[in-house]
Amino acid sequence: MTRVFSGVKPTGHLTLGNYLGAMRQWAAVDQHQADALFCVVDLHALTVAHDPARVRRLSRQSASLLLAAGLDPRLCTVFVQSHVDEHARLSYLLECVASDGEMRRMIQYREKSALERGRGGSVRLSLLTYPVLMAADILAYATDEVPVGDDQSQHVELTRDLAVRFNQRYGQTFVVPRVTHPKVAARVMNLQDPASKMGKSDDAGPGIVYLLDEPDVVRRKVMRAVTDSGREVVYDREGRPGVANLLEVLAACTGGVPEELAAGYRSYGDLKRDVAEAVVEVLRPVQERHRALCADPGYVEDVLRDGAERARGMARPVVDAAYRAIGL
Ligand code: ADP
Repeated sequence: MTRVFSGVKPTGHLTLGNYLGAMRQWAAVDQHQADALFCVVDLHALTVAHDPARVRRLSRQSASLLLAAGLDPRLCTVFVQSHVDEHARLSYLLECVASDGEMRRMIQYREKSALERGRGGSVRLSLLTYPVLMAADILAYATDEVPVGDDQSQHVELTRDLAVRFNQRYGQTFVVPRVTHPKVAARVMNLQDPASKMGKSDDAGPGIVYLLDEPDVVRRKVMRAVTDSGREVVYDREGRPGVANLLEVLAACTGGVPEELAAGYRSYGDLKRDVAEAVVEVLRPVQERHRALCADPGYVEDVLRDGAERARGMARPVVDAAYRAIGL
């Protein structure tokens, strides 16, 4: 059976981008067709300035939202990265096959480190080595497929390079994974700035729809989305990124095709109203399940404890084999 691994970082509240770009496929497809692991990657939340209590709170909330999005612990493994030591153990070995040059070329590192320096802060070394830890997350489980939003493609490519290099140097140890993306909305853009993705770190941004936003908040954010001064609704990612983003979100929520949906609208206002209602409907069941889970915190604890135990059992033999292969 195909082994699938993916994760979410508890650096902020999960967004519509996380849901449409990744989580929804995990629940609808991956957990049914594959031996799938889904991880709250809390170690990755420490790569930028962080508040310990907030990281702990967001880790728990992210796990609840994964379950609320439809992940079923009878079908897949849901766990927290720091509960399984194998991630950090393997990461060090992979640091010994990665080069500092290839780390510095990662787009996300260049963007985030520039931001940190711009704020006058120092850049944590872990921000540079983050993709190596991500490679360890994936390779430790002999993963075949990594279903992620399109923003993570470069990191999965690096994971493949490291796996191939390790195997060539030290003998066949790792499965070389493939990346997969959803067909539409693989990259949901910020409603106020369609040139940048809808990312969760920028908390309370008016261009970001959070999974737990109340219906009226969703409506307000969508109605205020930046478009352009044109009037005709056409799907053009380059020339009309704001409208294209709304059409993609609508397509992802209703199962349509962006180009065909565009033909049905005469004004941006009508389009926005339908997008807002479609998003509210998509989020409704997730929010209902989340409320039920909040009333039963012991259940989430149990799921995470069992998940970590299962994950440990899968990762340990792979990581032990890597230690032997590299000469330890
Ligand atoms: P973030 O960038 O929000 O911190 P994570 O690193 O936690 O996201 O990613 C969780 C999953 O959500 C990944 O598969 C990522 O590719 C996907 N994802 C994140 N933001 C978006 C977006 N705006 N559009 C589509 N997918 C996204």
